[in-house]
Amino acid sequence: MKFNTKTIHGGQQNIDPAYGAVMPPIYQTTTYSQTTPGGHKGYEYSRSANPTRTALENSLASIENGRFGMAFGSGLAAIDAVMKLFKPGDEIISTNDLYGGSYRLFTKIFEGFGLKFRFIGMQDASSLEEHINENTKLIWVETPTNPMMNIIDIEACSRVAKKHNLLLAVDNTFATPYLQRPLDLGADIVMHSATKYLGGHSDVVLGGLVVKDEQLAKKLYFIQNASGAICGPQDSFLVLRGIKTLHLRMQRHCENGEKIARFLKTHPRVGKVYWPGFEDNPNHEIAKKQMSGFGGMISFTTAQGTLESAVKVVEKLKIFTLAESLGGVESLAGHPVSMTHASIPVEEREKTGVVDSLIRLSVGIEDEEDLIGDLEQALE
Ligand SMILES: *Cc1c(COP(=O)(O)O)cnc(C)c1O
Repeated sequence: MKFNTKTIHGGQQNIDPAYGAVMPPIYQTTTYSQTTPGGHKGYEYSRSANPTRTALENSLASIENGRFGMAFGSGLAAIDAVMKLFKPGDEIISTNDLYGGSYRLFTKIFEGFGLKFRFIGMQDASSLEEHINENTKLIWVETPTNPMMNIIDIEACSRVAKKHNLLLAVDNTFATPYLQRPLDLGADIVMHSATKYLGGHSDVVLGGLVVKDEQLAKKLYFIQNASGAICGPQDSFLVLRGIKTLHLRMQRHCENGEKIARFLKTHPRVGKVYWPGFEDNPNHEIAKKQMSGFGGMISFTTAQGTLESAVKVVEKLKIFTLAESLGGVESLAGHPVSMTHASIPVEEREKTGVVDSLIRLSVGIEDEEDLIGDLEQALE
């Protein structure tokens, strides 16, 4: 099956043996009757497994070219499960320019439990090696990074990980498997905040993991069940429904993203524009190699470069909604310094380019003329 077919049918064979429903039924039940103690049809209790969640987990595995999918109550719950693979003293090397909530989880929760994190720039994968020692267990990659849209070479990271016998996990939230499939590039774990593009309609918070290796899947499944951060059947259904149009939405996100990036680049009130599709972007070649398009996420600074000028622009937008989050059908604008990245210390964020005048756009699938018109009036 090819990708666009997989979004609709992948892992969804025999979805309702009882009545032949074409869409997965929402099994709003906690428990399942047994004919004799232990005599059940594969489901005993909905923390351990629920048929609607299973349908979603199979779909996630299919679209990421993995074998095992696991769905969680949020993207952070999925990352939390990955971190529970490790023990005090273990070290993790992570992208330095990453989602603020991931940074907070790593530093405020897991450092307290004795895990050690090293946050580094990974544009040059060979620089990874100097941070590896006998305690290193995992490389955590986010690409494109949030909000600077840097691109990290997944294949190059995977070569380093394999050489040193480390796991490689990729947060694939921004690219989605429509644009990039990390397991094919050598990653061991793919993580998603399905809250964003996979759900695609800004109406559900949910997370996912996909792996190929059965032993690793067993460990993660044990954590999913033992820690219990699962998602409910209704939310599983909503993400399944979102995935069915992922390819159509992503195609339009990419088209609109490109037009807006090029519009911003020539505008006199705009400073820098961060979008990996620009030919002169330092990450352009890697982006072209590992992604099939450049997505709808764009960051830019105002020419004035002040916090006030950026705040003014986002407040004036009418079609773009000023809000956290991304990846929905509607266009959103955010001010990372005061919103998504407020939990990252100033010194850390300025190192990576998250300056006061930075604005992040999640370009939706509306008509491009309306979106450009909106940006034009806000910049005036
Ligand atoms: C939103 C997001 C997360 C966290 O996911 P939640 O569903 O909000 O818990 C992790 N990584 C990235 C890149 C995100 O954008």
